[in-house]
Parts: sequence; C-alpha cells; structure tokens
Amino acid sequence: MSSGPVDVVVVGSGPNGLAAAVTMAKAGLSVRVFEAAGTAGGGSRSAELTLPGHLHDVCSAVHPMAFASPFFRAFGIDRRVDFVTPEVSYAQVLDGGRAALAWHDLERTAEGLGADGAAWRRLFEPLLMERDAVVDFAMSPILRGPKHPFAATAMGLRMLASARAADAGFRTEEAGALLAGVSAHSIGPVASLGARAAGLLLGMLAHAPGGWPIPVGGSQAIVDALVADLRANGGELVTETRVHSLRELPSAHAVLLDVTPRALDGIAGDLLPNGYRSVLRRFRYGNAAAKVDYVLDGPVPWANAEVARAGTVHIGGSAAEIDAGERQLARGVHPKQPYVLVSQPSGFDPSRAPAGHTVLWAYTHVPRASGRDMTDAVTARIEQYAPGFRDRIVASAAIPASAMQLYNPNYIDGDIASGAASVGQLVARPVLSGTPWRTPLGGVYLCSASTSPGPGVHGMAGWHAARTALRDVFGIATPPPLAP
Ligand SMILES: Cc1cc2nc3c(=O)[nH]c(=O)nc-3n(C[C@H](O)[C@H](O)[C@H](O)COP(=O)(O)OP(=O)(O)OC[C@H]3O[C@@H](n4cnc5c(N)ncnc54)[C@H](O)[C@@H]3O)c2cc1C
Repeated sequence: MSSGPVDVVVVGSGPNGLAAAVTMAKAGLSVRVFEAAGTAGGGSRSAELTLPGHLHDVCSAVHPMAFASPFFRAFGIDRRVDFVTPEVSYAQVLDGGRAALAWHDLERTAEGLGADGAAWRRLFEPLLMERDAVVDFAMSPILRGPKHPFAATAMGLRMLASARAADAGFRTEEAGALLAGVSAHSIGPVASLGARAAGLLLGMLAHAPGGWPIPVGGSQAIVDALVADLRANGGELVTETRVHSLRELPSAHAVLLDVTPRALDGIAGDLLPNGYRSVLRRFRYGNAAAKVDYVLDGPVPWANAEVARAGTVHIGGSAAEIDAGERQLARGVHPKQPYVLVSQPSGFDPSRAPAGHTVLWAYTHVPRASGRDMTDAVTARIEQYAPGFRDRIVASAAIPASAMQLYNPNYIDGDIASGAASVGQLVARPVLSGTPWRTPLGGVYLCSASTSPGPGVHGMAGWHAARTALRDVFGIATPPPLAP
C-alpha cells in the first residue's frame, strides 16, 4: 500500500468515492484513492464481457441523474462526456404487440396514453415545473428539512396517492404498467412508498431536459472523466488494493469510505462505539439482480417497432403482473414471470459494437444470493415480446447475483442498491441524521450508496460526505467550484 501521509484517503472508486475525491482534490488537498479492483469505477465500468470489440456496461447503463444531479451539474459532466438522449426514455412492452412509451416529450406521452393521458400529465407536470426542487428534496437527507416545501409536498402527495394500488388508479393497462415498470427499478412491490418514490423521480426525469441519457462509449466514460479530473488536481488512484482495516491506511486527516455499513463495521472494528456498530449491523440488504449481456447480429425484433426508439425497455406485463412477481421475490422465490430491465445502447451509440452487431444489456430481479444463471429466463422473456430474438444471439455472458459481490464487495448477495431501498432506509441511510455520512470516529465518513440519498450514479453521497468533511476537518465552509 502507498504509505506516505496525505490529507485525505478515499476507499473505493465508485461514482461516490470519485465524487468525494474530486471535491477534496479541487479544495487543494492531497488525495489518495484505494480501489480493490484492477480499474476504477465500481458500478460504472464498461468492458468487453463477450467478444473482442464489443463494449458492455457491466453495471449501470442509463443515467437519468447525469444532468439532474447537483454534483454532476457542478462538475459540468455535460462538458466532459458526450451523451445521447433517446427520444423514448423507456418503454413498457405488453401482449399483442402493444407498448406504452414514455417519450422524452411529456405531451407526446400523454397523447399516446389515450384515456389516461391527462392523468399522466397531472402526475408529472407539477413535478417537472419544480424539477430542481424535487431533485434537491430527493437527493438530501430528510432531517435537513425540505428547502422547497411545495416540491416536497407535491412529491409526497403523489407517492401516497400512487402507492394505493399496483396500477396507481390508472384506467388503462398501458399507463398502469408504464408507471409500475419504472417503479420496479427499486426492487420490491411496486405499490410500496419506496418504489413509488423511485418511480416518480425517474418518471419525472424521463420528461425533463436531458431525459435518460446514455454516455457515448459506455458508463466508463463518466468514470474516466472523474479520474482525469482527480489526476489533473494532483490526486492519486491506487488500484488492486482492498482495504481491510483503518489501521492499514496511511496517515490522513480525513478518510471517506465508499463501502457498505457491513464493511465499515469490519474496517473500523472496535474503534467504533458499540451503539453505532449495532446500527450498522441492523442495516438491511435487499433482493438482488442477475445480469445477462448479449451480442446480436442486428437490433432486437420487437413486435412493436416503436420500442426500438427507447433507450430502456421494461418487461413485466401489466402492473398487477409486475407487482405479483416482485411480491414473490419479497418472499424469497424466483418470480415465475420475472421483471426484466433492458437497455439497448447500440441504437444510439454505434461505437459499442462492430458494424452489423449490436450489444444488449439486461438484468432481472432474483432472490438475494441466487446463484442461478438467468440467461434462459431473460432470453425467453425478451422473445415473448420480440419473436425471433433468440435467433439473433451471437454471444452472451451471464453474471448471477451471487457473483456480483465478488465483482464489487458493495453488492452484498447481489443487492445492487447497496442496501434495501425501503422508505425507512431511504430516510435513515444508514442513520437518521441531517449528516448521515459522519461516523462517531472523528475524520471518518461513509460516502457510498448505502448512505443518503441512496443508489444510482449521481455522486451525491460522495459530494455530501466530502462537503461535510471539508467543514468538520479542514474548516472549509464554502466548497470549491468543480467546473472544468
Ligand atoms: C447491474 C447493475 C445495474 C445498474 N444500473 C444502473 C443504471 O442503469 N443507472 C444508475 O444510475 N445506476 C445503476 N446501478 C446502480 C449504480 O451502479 C450504483 O448505485 C452506484 O455505482 C453506486 O456508487 P458507489 O460509488 O456508492 O459504489 P460502487 O459503484 O458500488 O463502487 C464501490 C467501489 O468501492 C470498491 N471497494 C469496496 N470496498 C472496498 C475496500 N474495502 N477496499 C477498496 N475498495 C473497495 C469497489 O470495488 C467499488 O469499485 C446499477 C448497478 C448494478 C450492479
């Protein structure tokens, strides 16, 4: 391990660890990042998982927070990475060649939803008008108190109203399934408050400026931009170094850990007070995701041709069917009809595969620690809505949920959210506090997706933790500008 003293050590180079690292480096501090894997990036890496020359996103693929996250906006990610915004943010495929489409354009979406168009508009238009305030509310710990009470109330009322039923009270199967499909991102029954919070935030961003963008060259491009900025400001990145104890680290004034509460309990050990250790041990991890990546010899032959215009496709049937599958999952069984999330980047970024080929990214929800290879199940699910899909497959690669934790220790038993995203754990993540990143150990902070505001590539936990540490440890009350 590189042993010279530094101002700041960051453990883990996921989007949050790197957000913390660049914030500290821009403040003029010396920063060293230790990463267990051979490359930086955590859940935002891209790699040739199947055939040479075919670039797959290993974890995250689509970035609804890229233009909305206050951290990424301050960092100027749009000036550092090229993104493409699909004209359909997400599609919900249904039987009989039907599909519901969430166009980037809210009006066009409402038109397509027929009898439910006005209700869809009523759900999202007020949130969109207060977009920055809604994002600010969703990206801050609740105990800080909403800076924008109107936006918080609008969001809260919609969560309560839409969580009453799986179909959220929509009259058509299309609109109910469209909202259920986006709510199911959070892994769990779609009518739970946690799922609705995710669905409303992601659903709003689908219609916001920037939509659900896809980085040209894969999610790795976001990490590359963060690492380049870190290095330009004198920061160091040390890979292939897993940290097991705080005692191994070089002398530093502040340590920011992009790890789970369970890992913090191990790394800090008996340096932590018992009360806090039991809070860390009570933190719950959720059900899991199993990944399948494909190389195809052309685009997916969707029964409904318009689905090709979507960056993301949700497969799960009606709202009731999606909910039933997620409830089976909550009982610890593999759903009979699994929910599948598909991203089809090749239609928007031809650089991912050689001419004539496309890459396709998919994952499905499975019980925690499942070791099942889900290739056949996911293939069958896509084939159901895209007859002929199977014949287009040139190669595929599966990552079962149980292998996720080997790839990244933050995905305990395959929980890609690094902690169940229930309302309780979104409010107290991992503790109920206005500064939940601070630990009882002076100068030691948690900054991963296991802390507020939770999962996703937005860098916000890292940014919040870094700004708290700048104030606490270095007396810097005004965080540095991050723009290029
Ligand atoms: C399959 C999958 C699909 C996803 N899809 C999306 C998506 O499309 N859009 C989206 O916004 N989000 C998506 N996510 C979620 C997103 O990737 C994560 O929420 C995000 O990466 C969390 O960032 P993080 O910095 O907190 O942690 P991570 O990205 O998990 O990074 C943690 C890093 O810390 C390192 N580390 C951990 N412990 C140690 C240690 N002791 N010593 C040294 N290094 C350590 C790990 O190796 C890892 O590199 C997806 C995740 C997965 C797995």
